[in-house]
Amino acid sequence: MIILMKVLKFGGSSVAKPERIKGIANILKDYYKRGEKFAVVFSAFGGVTDYLIKMSSAAANGEESYLDHFNSFSKRHIDSVNELFIEGDRKDILLELKNNHDVLKGLLKGVFLVREASPRTMDYVLSFGERNSNFIISHYLRKEGINANYLDARKVIKTDKKFGAAKVDLDTTFNNIQEYFTNHPEIQITTGFIASSKGGLTTTLGRGGSDFTAAVLANVLNAEKVIIWKDVDGVLNADPRYFSDTKLIRQLSFTDAIELAYYGAKVIHPKTIQPLKEKKIPLHVRSFKNVNKSGTIINSESCNNKNPSYIVKENQVLISISDLELSFIVEEHLSYIFMLLSNFNITINLMQNSAVSFSICVDNHSYKIPLLI
Ligand code: ADP
Ligand code: ASP
Ligand code: MG
Repeated sequence: MIILMKVLKFGGSSVAKPERIKGIANILKDYYKRGEKFAVVFSAFGGVTDYLIKMSSAAANGEESYLDHFNSFSKRHIDSVNELFIEGDRKDILLELKNNHDVLKGLLKGVFLVREASPRTMDYVLSFGERNSNFIISHYLRKEGINANYLDARKVIKTDKKFGAAKVDLDTTFNNIQEYFTNHPEIQITTGFIASSKGGLTTTLGRGGSDFTAAVLANVLNAEKVIIWKDVDGVLNADPRYFSDTKLIRQLSFTDAIELAYYGAKVIHPKTIQPLKEKKIPLHVRSFKNVNKSGTIINSESCNNKNPSYIVKENQVLISISDLELSFIVEEHLSYIFMLLSNFNITINLMQNSAVSFSICVDNHSYKIPLLI
């Protein structure tokens, strides 16, 4: 039987630089010294996933510059190892990184040659971000005295083959995680965002999906709490990058949190709430910069927050659909439109219909929208 533990999740911004990794290690050392039981999920170093997308797009477009991007990706990780470890401790870590980077380089060369980065290849490419960060950080935590073990989530989290937004197979994943955690009592440092299909192909859970990884682990392990550490004080009533006088929301119900996340409050991934709500596991969103601040608690209690929330979504496309003969937009037309949107895996952010037209606002997926139209 597994005893109650906390699941802690640190996103890309909390590990964007080696100094930040050192700060996070101090937070974790406090948990460790108190004898707490916890598992940790890390994202890729801040900006790395975008960078991996950039290098594969360059390779797919036949641009030799993909190699420059690859070299800076590689250098960024090697530099952090050099900064986090003294010379004598680096050799094995750098060797393993080099082996991994050689595989990535070969993969990108393939993309460059065939001029195509399929969703399947993309998921594999993107997995190098989380694998690198968790591998380096787990070594660092061991050096700092924490009994940490690197867990590649592809070993335990199983999904279908919907590359880019894979759906978790909860039954298999449940058994795998239970078994793994029972046999590995160390502090598990787990790659967020990535998983694998039954046949062993690498999949990803959707952008920002490391929060969801933490929620899946917590659900299976019946965790006491999930703590997501952010560069903001908690869930605010708007994104501080756009608004200057934001207010902290101290408590939110699971339902309100789902609404906020679904409509794009980037602070939590929308899929995160459901696995927690199911087991009534509270989610604490707090700041790694201001550790004394109390943050936001998301739980089953209803909330009476009266402040309106604001969500800004950039890069939107407005699509208006009408019948050439200006006939009315009836249910039959709508159901056909919705079917097409679902086939292309495009989510509607806003919609409005008039008698003869139907308008939707969707994210500007550069490759999906022209195909849809
Ligand atoms: P991480 O790297 O930890 O995954 P993200 O950059 O994905 O972090 O998310 C944190 C950012 O989310 C904040 O810096 C903030 O700009 C933005 N954000 C958007 N909406 C909100 C909100 N309602 N409350 C707090 N932060 C928000
Ligand atoms: N690294 C992934 C991304 O940038 C997952 C995450 O950060 O949660 O989307
Ligand atoms: Mg994120």
